[in-house]
Amino acid sequence: MSTKINQTIPITQEDLIYIYGDEYQFFISTMISNCNCVRCESHYHSTIVNYNIFLYESNDILLKGSCQKCGHLISRYLETGEVPAFLSRINKVRSNNGFH
Ligand SMILES: [Zn+2]
Repeated sequence: MSTKINQTIPITQEDLIYIYGDEYQFFISTMISNCNCVRCESHYHSTIVNYNIFLYESNDILLKGSCQKCGHLISRYLETGEVPAFLSRINKVRSNNGFH
């Protein structure tokens, strides 16, 4: 029987910086300030703050935090699993967190 990776694991801000590498600043300026808040009806113009970061089995990442303006819970899905350049770093983060 083979070991299957099927966990969603919490990762740190440092892990996120590592995964994005040179693209991290681009990420910050685009993703963080383009979140959808249903309460503000912001249509992806809200900024997410105080977020926790989760790495999915699919290698995509989810940010779960709150709206900077109203405090409502919001999340941002990042399709990092579709970027080949990120995959080796994602695998390293996963193994650093005890998942292989
Ligand atoms: Zn809001």
